[in-house]
Amino acid sequence: MKNLLGGKGANLAEMASIGLPVPPGFTLTTEVCASFYEKNCTYPKELADQVAQSLALVEARTGRKFGDASNPLLVSVRSGARASMPGMMDTVLNLGLNDQTVEALAKQANDRRFAFDSYRRFVQMYSDVVLGMELHNFEKLLERAKQRRGVKNDHELLPEDLERLVKDYKATVQLEMGESFPEDPQEQLWGAIGAVFNSWMNQRAKTYRQLHDIPESWGTAVNVQAMVFGNMGNDCATGVAFTRNPSNGANDFYGEFLVNAQGEDVVAGIRTPQELTIKARKSHGSDLPSLEEVMPGIFKELSTVRKQLEAHYTDMQDIEFTIQQGKLYMLQTRTGKRTAHAALQIAVDMANEGLISKSQALMRLKPDLIDQLLHPTLDPKAKKQVIAKGLPASPGAAVGKVVFTADEAVRRSKDGEKVLLVRIETSPDDIHGLHAAEGVLTTRGGAPVCDLSGSPSPAIPAAALLSMIPPTFKRQGVLRMRARGMTSHAAVVARGMGRPCVAGAGDVRVDYAANKFSVGGVTVQEGQLLTIDGVSGEVILGEVPTVAPQLSGSFGTIMSWADDFRSLQVRANAETPADARQAKSFGAQGIGLVRTEHMFFEGGRIVAMRQMILAADENDRKAALDKLLVMQREDIVELFRIMDGLPVTVRLLDPPLHEFIPHSESEMASVARAAGVPLERVRRRATELKEANPMLGHRGCRLAITYPEICEMQTRAILEAAAEVGRSTSKQPVAEIMVPLVSTLEEFALLKSVIEKTAAAVQKEQGVTLKYHVGTMIELPRACLQAGKLAEQAEFFSFGTNDLTQTTYGLSRDDAGSFLPDYKEKGIVEQDPFVSLDQAGVGELINMAVGRGRTARQGMKMGICGEHGGDPASIEFCNKAGLDYVSCSPFRVPVARLAAAQAALKDKGEKALQASTKATKPRNPAFGPW
Ligand code: PEP
Ligand code: MG
Repeated sequence: MKNLLGGKGANLAEMASIGLPVPPGFTLTTEVCASFYEKNCTYPKELADQVAQSLALVEARTGRKFGDASNPLLVSVRSGARASMPGMMDTVLNLGLNDQTVEALAKQANDRRFAFDSYRRFVQMYSDVVLGMELHNFEKLLERAKQRRGVKNDHELLPEDLERLVKDYKATVQLEMGESFPEDPQEQLWGAIGAVFNSWMNQRAKTYRQLHDIPESWGTAVNVQAMVFGNMGNDCATGVAFTRNPSNGANDFYGEFLVNAQGEDVVAGIRTPQELTIKARKSHGSDLPSLEEVMPGIFKELSTVRKQLEAHYTDMQDIEFTIQQGKLYMLQTRTGKRTAHAALQIAVDMANEGLISKSQALMRLKPDLIDQLLHPTLDPKAKKQVIAKGLPASPGAAVGKVVFTADEAVRRSKDGEKVLLVRIETSPDDIHGLHAAEGVLTTRGGAPVCDLSGSPSPAIPAAALLSMIPPTFKRQGVLRMRARGMTSHAAVVARGMGRPCVAGAGDVRVDYAANKFSVGGVTVQEGQLLTIDGVSGEVILGEVPTVAPQLSGSFGTIMSWADDFRSLQVRANAETPADARQAKSFGAQGIGLVRTEHMFFEGGRIVAMRQMILAADENDRKAALDKLLVMQREDIVELFRIMDGLPVTVRLLDPPLHEFIPHSESEMASVARAAGVPLERVRRRATELKEANPMLGHRGCRLAITYPEICEMQTRAILEAAAEVGRSTSKQPVAEIMVPLVSTLEEFALLKSVIEKTAAAVQKEQGVTLKYHVGTMIELPRACLQAGKLAEQAEFFSFGTNDLTQTTYGLSRDDAGSFLPDYKEKGIVEQDPFVSLDQAGVGELINMAVGRGRTARQGMKMGICGEHGGDPASIEFCNKAGLDYVSCSPFRVPVARLAAAQAALKDKGEKALQASTKATKPRNPAFGPW
């Protein structure tokens, strides 16, 4: 019930319903938030009564009373949206404290210092979050209190100092706000509820929503929950954990905790947390005992909870827990964020463990995640000057110019520069910079407390540490972040965005004022090139070369499972041997598009090409074409060899000829020299070839209509290559000759006859019968309308959706980039139609062409070779449209294999089945205590 209760509320209710120890509480639903904004920031009239009733139930379960002077109930008030928005909205803890209840807390905990420290923190947090006061007001007072007492650290303050501090804080509130700090717990409660609902619209939350496509209409829920304390003594603790390793996916209990501490102490990274397990302690070489050793009974209970949670949610969980006076409480569970590597490993392991099915494992992996696995890594042979080491928090290697602020990252990346964001630590305010950067390096997180306090004393009591948290963490939202290594804000966000991240490189000293950092005698200025390796945690001076990723193990398993489920074939668009090999290694089942013109731009070939274009007559043109034939044949031989019997679709020359002719005087002069023709002819030809709208001009099949000898040469090159390869291998090459930009049957018929005549001649000369097919691209609306006619002659269709989108919209694919962002912003289009197929328009034409084509030619082979062939949503469309294959760039092949499997599974309604298998209804109604 995440939509109604928000992620946190739903999970707390769910945990309670499966019998886990959750402090009681209740949720104000996201519907209340929606209504709050609809109705001018007012609440539904029944809300007050419902809150009162729920609070009464919480009181009954805890045996405490809200605002009671002898046995008070304290609560936390937290946000919780449908999708996780870590740290973006507000939270208030210890709510219910006032001058009376604090005395009761002191008595019950038998610790006056603890009670007044909690009270001091509450006043500060409430004043910040609810009253909107600046935190420096309180920092000043805290400093003064320490000076007065003659101490350096907060924990050295005496209870009476804290008591006075609370008074001073409240006086500041009175002075700044012109009203007194609310003593009435009910007023506090409603103030906090309002602040959390209001925080849905703060700038951080808005930016996060934009970046993650989270609709504003979803709203946040508000969770009100009884407080539990991990800082009431040495039988208390607090911790965070992942049920499996979020970095590599290993099935290890992975987390950290602090004895006698609050959640903020773990997340703020100011004391070195302890490991959960003996195994982790040993492997990290930590001197501090693990939870398994310190509290074996609790550890056992927590391990059982871990198993229960995974069995219930059938996914890796990210949990928060508190131990209060020897009793375990679960405060949070949610699906854990993880690296692409971990996502893959966990999906495969869970399917192998029988926790989920293979199809569930496949459905769980976002195709874009696969992209991250294909990131290059550092060339192991490259020389590198490692200047620092941090924690490998998000994989992949990133190279960029160093910047120190999120704004600078955005500014430079807009100018086309690749940047690396270097921060002491990131906060949610840096989110735009994280997005713009190639990778992130942070320095805080792995470092011990002495970094902040100047005195290396990891034994400082946790309750005293809050004021040492650096200013970036002071906002309560940020306090919820985890600052240490794998769980730090930078790491969590970078993993989510697929950005490499090295976190907690503690030796690096950042000097924001001077725009530089230094480490081990090396100083790096803003704008200098730096490399980070998110796998080893290394920080390297300069730019280090990278190598293509190695794919094996779980990647291979997932890909083979995907192949079992998909019906769409996946081919690649490739013209170089390197691309073809890469595509084959990624599992491409053939080449769906060889753009032959690309071959003519290489090396000396352009000279022959230009000779052909500049030829004075047909004979001259044929002489130039003879040279091109040799080169083209060589290239295609390689492709056939690499593809080893898999089909290769070669497209005839497509672009307007003037693209091959230079336009500046000096370039024309050198072309004239190289081609051995007078400069005047080059000038004249360039003028002749100039067109007002080249993309709608003399290009595609229209070239071959004017110059059939080009079509003859290309057909000859393809088929002679097929004959040559066929003689030396057992698997016969399959050649598909494809005619571009056809709009009439007559065009196609004429060129088909040229191709067949040439094919007959080649077969006769070579004394072989070759496997070849002649088909057409469908990239003009007229071709879609005439698909039935074209299918009478064409053996296959390949939808060129780049041009088909351009011509259907009447929107230049080369110019749309300048104004499409306005369309997106104004909601006219949801997606760039050149990236994700316009299913309503272009898709309709494709459906029509598929229907008409297959009516004329039963079982006709059809595919897509526009950019959309690698886009998961478009692949889903292609599956529904009944295409036989998609063809995409080599690096998209694995993504396409997975997306094709998911499309097939969705089609079979597998998704609905998956949702129903494990769905357990929460015991409680949408609004009500858990
Ligand atoms: C297309 O138009 O979709 C296509 C594949 O051809 P090109 O991008 O080369 O025009
Ligand atoms: Mg095209």
